[in-house]
This record gives sequence, structure tokens and C-alpha cells, in this order.
Amino acid sequence: MIGATMLCFRLFGFPIRIHWMFWVLCAFLGLNFLEGGGRTGALIVGATIAIFIVCTLCHELCHAFMRKHHGAPNAEIKLQGVGGYCSGPGKFTPGQAISIALAGPMFHLILSMLLFSLWMAVIPRESMASRLTLRATDLNMILFILHVLPVMPLDGGHIFSMLMASRNPAIVPWIGMVVAMIVSVIGAMTGWYIISLIFSYFAYQNVKMIRNRSYRGF
Ligand SMILES: [Zn+2]
Repeated sequence: MIGATMLCFRLFGFPIRIHWMFWVLCAFLGLNFLEGGGRTGALIVGATIAIFIVCTLCHELCHAFMRKHHGAPNAEIKLQGVGGYCSGPGKFTPGQAISIALAGPMFHLILSMLLFSLWMAVIPRESMASRLTLRATDLNMILFILHVLPVMPLDGGHIFSMLMASRNPAIVPWIGMVVAMIVSVIGAMTGWYIISLIFSYFAYQNVKMIRNRSYRGF
């Protein structure tokens, strides 16, 4: 796995590993935001990719800092072809685990609202700064919505799983599969093929969870 990792470094004491597939994900997402050609188009795509990388790193760092806040400082962050992942040793209460899972998506929501307020208040319309600020606002709102969907292994899936743990845990992968398939179809119909592909993979992961559970008999 280390051989397939292109970039390893530490940020705020947390080890970060970036797999080469993450750059493929960035490239496809950037192309989805392509508007027109020329230098301006290339600049906007490049800026979108840069915003996505920084925001994904910040998302995972929020998980890592929340884990540290709850007494588990040794988190590791991986950026892969289907997004980021923060893991490490630690035992948490259900409430702590929910706050750790929420920390990442909340970063996108808060940043999106702050950027939109900034755009409304001070950024001149029809400028490049205006376009980039709105792009970062949209991107972070999309990332927030996608991450809170009740689909494993997304943050929303983990939160849903913890909320259902004592009620009906078997329903979690079923809901995850259905929601992932719906997002996959919407992605394919709207030209967001990378999102469609990722959510097809998530749907498959949830089908595997359903199969494993029935195999074990619960
Ligand atoms: Zn997350």
C-alpha cells in the first residue's frame, strides 16, 4: 500500500498519505466544473481542484482534531480514489463517535456559509474573485450534502448506523444501498460521472454488508 502512495507528510502532527487515485478523482471533479476554454477556464479548473484538495484535507483534519479532543490523538489521514479517510486507535461513546463523524461535514457547511456571506458583503460582482468564491461555496455545499447522506462508509452512514444501533441496525445497509443507487443514477443523468461511479461503488459496499449480515444470521 505504501508503494502505491505518492505523497506522505505530516500536518499538525497527523500523518497524511495521498494515494495516486486521489489525483485521478481531483482531475475528474475539476473537469466537471469546466466552463469554457482558454486561460480563464484552465485557471478556474485548477483553482477548483486546489479548493477541493485543501477542503478535503481540512475535512479529515477536523475528524482527527475531534478524535484528539476525545482522547485519541493518534489518527492517520488517507486521501484515496473515493475521498478521504481518517482512522486510528480509540474508544468512543456513541455521542463522541457522532461528534467525530459530524466534524468533517460541518467544516464544509460552515465554510460554505462563511464564503457566501463574504461574497454578499464585500466581493465585487463580475470579478474572478467572485467566481472563485461562489465556486468554493458551491463545492463545499455539495461536499456537505454528499457526506451527510446515510450511506456507508460516508460520515452520514456512520452517524445513521450509530443512531440505529439499538433500534434496527439491519436497515442501515439497505437504506445505504438505495440512497447510493439513487445518487449514482442522478450523477449519471446529470453528467457527474465520477460521483455516479463512486456511489455505485458505495452501493456495492452496502450490498456486501447486507450479504455478510445474512450469512452470519443477524
Ligand atoms: Zn468525513
